[in-house]
Amino acid sequence: MARKQSSTGRKPKAKKTANTTTKKTPSTPADVAHPGPGRPKGATNTPTDVVPVVKSRCAKCDSTNRGEYWGRTVQQFAGTAPDGKPYTHIVRRKCKCLTEGCGQIRIDKTYENRPSSG
Ligand SMILES: [Zn+2]
Repeated sequence: MARKQSSTGRKPKAKKTANTTTKKTPSTPADVAHPGPGRPKGATNTPTDVVPVVKSRCAKCDSTNRGEYWGRTVQQFAGTAPDGKPYTHIVRRKCKCLTEGCGQIRIDKTYENRPSSG
């Protein structure tokens, strides 16, 4: 297959802050070995948690549409988050509201619990 690549429309990739993978896959390596859908025969049913995630929103217009994050800072500071759960780091990311006519810039502050990483 031939990949079309326009020589003119190439623009440098948007700068991405070192996004450490916060994704944690609880599945065992055995699960990955089976590419087909569903679990392999005889495999135990792994309980899956459903965790609601509330997106950050613009304080001005309540929109959750935002541009890419930039200016990410990580502060190693342990405490108890507003939800009563412990955290080890405070992460702040700047972003811009994408609502037409708003464009408010905000800092999304998240409390992260990284017990293993010092
Ligand atoms: Zn807004």
